[in-house]
Amino acid sequence: MFEYEALIVGAGGAGLYAALEASKTGKTAVLSKLYPVRSHTGAAQGGIGAALGNLEEDKPIWHAFDTVKGGDYLTDQNAASILAEDAIQAVYELENKGLPFSRTPQGLIDQRRFGGHTRNFGEAPVRRACYAADRTGHMILQTLFQQCIKENVAFFDEYTVLDVLIQGHQCRGLVAGDLATGEIHLFKAKAVLFATGGFGRIFRITSNAYANTGDGQALLAKRGVPLEDMEFYQFHPTGIRGLGILITEAVRGEGGILRNAKGERFMERYAPTLLDLAPRDMISRAIHTEIQELRGVKGDGSVDDYIYLDATHLGKDAIEAKLPDIAEFSRTYLGVDPAEKPMSVHPTAHYAMGGIPTDLDGRVIFDSSGKTYEGLYAAGECACVSVHGANRLGTNSLVELVVFGRRAGQHMAQFVKGADFGTVSADAPEAVRKRLAELRRQEKCPNPESLRREMQHVMMENVGIIRNRENMAKAQKALRELRQVYTQIRANDPSRAFNTQVLEITELGHLLELAYMVVTCALNRQESRGAHAREDFAERDDNNWLKHTLAWFEGENIRIDYRNVDISRWEPKPRKY
Ligand SMILES: Cc1cc2nc3c(=O)[nH]c(=O)nc-3n(C[C@H](O)[C@H](O)[C@H](O)COP(=O)(O)OP(=O)(O)OC[C@H]3O[C@@H](n4cnc5c(N)ncnc54)[C@H](O)[C@@H]3O)c2cc1C
Repeated sequence: MFEYEALIVGAGGAGLYAALEASKTGKTAVLSKLYPVRSHTGAAQGGIGAALGNLEEDKPIWHAFDTVKGGDYLTDQNAASILAEDAIQAVYELENKGLPFSRTPQGLIDQRRFGGHTRNFGEAPVRRACYAADRTGHMILQTLFQQCIKENVAFFDEYTVLDVLIQGHQCRGLVAGDLATGEIHLFKAKAVLFATGGFGRIFRITSNAYANTGDGQALLAKRGVPLEDMEFYQFHPTGIRGLGILITEAVRGEGGILRNAKGERFMERYAPTLLDLAPRDMISRAIHTEIQELRGVKGDGSVDDYIYLDATHLGKDAIEAKLPDIAEFSRTYLGVDPAEKPMSVHPTAHYAMGGIPTDLDGRVIFDSSGKTYEGLYAAGECACVSVHGANRLGTNSLVELVVFGRRAGQHMAQFVKGADFGTVSADAPEAVRKRLAELRRQEKCPNPESLRREMQHVMMENVGIIRNRENMAKAQKALRELRQVYTQIRANDPSRAFNTQVLEITELGHLLELAYMVVTCALNRQESRGAHAREDFAERDDNNWLKHTLAWFEGENIRIDYRNVDISRWEPKPRKY
């Protein structure tokens, strides 16, 4: 049995920042199923938004407003204001911790344009994204990991958390498995923070890594914690055709243009002011429409049709200096040098706006009035502090990791000073041990890989960019059946050490639960808002739906309730760009 005052699950940007703060007062450990610097934050390319105003005038209040409008007014406005105001200090702290940002000729942090970020409440695009070439996330991760090592944070690498110990409304610790030995351990704690990232793997075409399986959300949901706004899943407009690997929005921030098969700059029809830098939900829908109306390159109207992202006019030198990884991806996966030919792209499942509900200090909420658990926190993509509303703006996730990861870590640091460990039975891990032994029984069973593919196909075809009741009901029924089939799945590898198959089966279980949650919440919300676009309820309906969804698993079913949106600063308006 291990005992730490603060336990952090996840070594991405959110987890590492929280760990740095928590370790200031308490003995702190980070558990991560991946080696820390392989966390998905390392894949983030384009930038971290902060109104530094290094190249042109910018203000936090414009950043906050863009975030609220980008989120189609489902964003909590108090959270957006904190995000925008604290972003500036967050970026300078990263700089001081050693992050090698790209620079202007004068030596300031360079900034580029990004979708939905504007000057003076929507007038024109503004340079707000701070970046380190197209490796911003990689640099954040390396910087924070080094700082954690310096501060003596303990790391349990390749430890997978398999259960969380909640007594009443208090969190007491975790159960985790060591991949190298297969041993299951009990971790006692005064406070636990989940920073386990997203769950893009519920879809067939996604920018997300294989490890993004929503473990934190699913584990907590199994223990009675609600999930918030799960119907809002973002498709990024530009994933590499057929693969979904991301081509960052920074390409358009640097001047790249989207074109259909006829060579038309089609965004002129959909967002005349911001064009290719409109928010992601709008551009993904525009691409969907172009494809449906047979102006995609293949011209068959299928989900797999694509359009072009043209960066040829930017010139080879600019591309190699500011977008070196993207140039390499394009050459490797498309066989195309972006300085010479346009890249073939289509929307790719990218980011979960919803997740574990938290207050502004990362404390996990358990009811619609906003009451919180003691000693249970969440931050980063797995959490929902309601800062992205119905659609996240590019660069706002990396800011969220740092701003709200830090706030949660600071709160934990204070909390553990006055808290005790409580009593936890040494038998707490038994249920997990039994479940894993059962999985290793090597019986003939359905193939987990086909089950995963079926789920991803169902979600991609029916719960993607454009939704309707008929398709979602079909998906819900199919997922109910797949969840049943899942109960018969067993591993054919009986070994204990490095049994990645047992791990993958566990992750598949999480994905199935979350896919079911997404479709159920999407069916329930009878309006279109942000990334949730319904053909049968095409308009936003503030009278009935300006509210957050909270959803609980109750046995096999889902119960839904609602939470108010903070609209203390701006009245909701129609969203035009
Ligand atoms: C290709 C790509 C590019 C992006 N570019 C940008 C960008 O330019 N700007 C921006 O703002 N956002 C960007 N994003 C979004 C952003 O990168 C992510 O939302 C963010 O990095 C998530 O960070 P996180 O700390 O929440 O989780 P992650 O970085 O995903 O880390 C999750 C951690 O949890 C651990 N974990 C998960 N489950 C378990 C478990 N059961 N037990 C133990 N550990 C577990 C993992 O090992 C990992 O350490 C991008 C996303 C993608 C996919």
